[in-house]
Amino acid sequence: TQLANDGVQRLRPYQPGKPIEELQRELGIRDVIKLASNENPLGPSHRALDAARHALDQIHLYPDGAGFSLKAALAERLGVGADQLVLGNGSNDVLELIARAYLQPGDEAVFSEFAFAIYPLVTLACSAKPVQVESHLFGHDLAAMADAITERTRVVFLANPNNPTGTWFNDHALDAFLARVPENVLVVLDEAYFEYVEESHYPDGLRRMARYPNLIVTRTFSKIHGLAGLRVGYGVAHPQVADVLNRVRQPFNVNIPALAAAEAALDDSDHIENSKSENTTGLVQLAEGLAALNLEQIPSVANFVAFDCGGDAQPVYEALLREGVIVRPLGGYGMPRHLRVTAGTARDNERFLAALGKVLSAR
Ligand code: PMP
Repeated sequence: TQLANDGVQRLRPYQPGKPIEELQRELGIRDVIKLASNENPLGPSHRALDAARHALDQIHLYPDGAGFSLKAALAERLGVGADQLVLGNGSNDVLELIARAYLQPGDEAVFSEFAFAIYPLVTLACSAKPVQVESHLFGHDLAAMADAITERTRVVFLANPNNPTGTWFNDHALDAFLARVPENVLVVLDEAYFEYVEESHYPDGLRRMARYPNLIVTRTFSKIHGLAGLRVGYGVAHPQVADVLNRVRQPFNVNIPALAAAEAALDDSDHIENSKSENTTGLVQLAEGLAALNLEQIPSVANFVAFDCGGDAQPVYEALLREGVIVRPLGGYGMPRHLRVTAGTARDNERFLAALGKVLSAR
């Protein structure tokens, strides 16, 4: 490790949710559910699945590196120019491209306490300095984040809604923040859960693009579109920023089935609507079930909810595993009393709540 760059030596690897197959093997049972990675409980759209299958005939060819067809579809759907888009192998790829293109050793990247784990990771991978700003009630304290910007700050990462807390900030707060950010600082507005949010004052980052050329919005096909396994995400930015990111990305970073499935998914409004309403119902079910267990939860507008176990969450997490239920412990986020559960189908949510009730009463 001493040979790795300074930032990498301090980097803690991303910890994904425990794989279902691993727990199946450990417990010797097949009946395991996973509500740990904010995946879509309805699965992918059938149209996307058909498109991906169809595209398999083409996999002896390189993909269209520029993603012409998907970009054209996205541009039309989002009301932006195709030259404002960069496609990524998941939106994580876009976040990493931003760090690679804009952060040098000694530069600072600002993000919130309890924000998505990839921000410090991509920052440290470039040997830049992560500046973590204390949060307010698990959400972003945007005023404090603006105060934290120095002349060495090159990038600010915002997540709206945030993962793992499910918190959000409104249009007034975002506009007040953007007005305070110097033009030479890139603001990354991570909207991975954008499509789920129903709040009337929830800001659409794309509508602010014309006013703030230093703003980049990232979104993904992993959540509402149910294509997490194919890895497709995108960034929308000023054409000059998009151009920079397109220069540094791998030439074929999104594969053929992924390009085809993403384009088909965009058109499947039924699947999008169903996914959204399933999530709304699931969030209510989880909120009511957690309240019935007298557990404090962080109100969420995304597709998951974090709750306080009333003590160390690790034994609760492990006991849930023994019940065949995988959720996400948040100790790595500095939230050792919290677990995060993804809104699943009604049946999976019920199974999770029953298992949690059992585990807690045995405590
Ligand atoms: N941003 C946030 C806030 C997320 O929660 C996630 C997924 N966990 C991502 C980005 C990355 O998702 P993907 O790479 O699958 O697009």
